[in-house]
Amino acid sequence: MKPSDPEQERAWRERLSSEQYQVTRCSATEAPFSGRYWNHHADGEYRCVCCGAPLFDSNSKFDSGTGWPSFTQPAHDARIAEHADRSYGMVRTEVRCASCEAHLGHVFPDGPGPDGLRYCINSAALDFEPAADSASDSPSAESA
Ligand SMILES: [Zn+2]
Repeated sequence: MKPSDPEQERAWRERLSSEQYQVTRCSATEAPFSGRYWNHHADGEYRCVCCGAPLFDSNSKFDSGTGWPSFTQPAHDARIAEHADRSYGMVRTEVRCASCEAHLGHVFPDGPGPDGLRYCINSAALDFEPAADSASDSPSAESA
């Protein structure tokens, strides 16, 4: 990782939990089945935990069985930056937030969707925002 601004680094440390910091700013990977979102199925949007950019939509989330949140595609291609990652003797494609360069996870070519991609993302890099229309379901349920 390139050296970054110490002021900015300190701001991230203050804002993020240590796990969020390790994942997003130091490219760590959370333990599988440990995160908040691998088994999370609500409708809504997954945002960058660092800068709030909307990154993935629950419509493209699928159960990959890996223990990490998995998506067939980003919500907006322009919000995701992909980089070749040659660490650990493998060649993988790293996925980062295009706005703040937070490390999110990796993309693999074995997904179930039409593009055949699997975005394998750390829960610690995401913040879930429930869909607005899921709130409108509750008044009709109460009136029944
Ligand atoms: Zn970001």
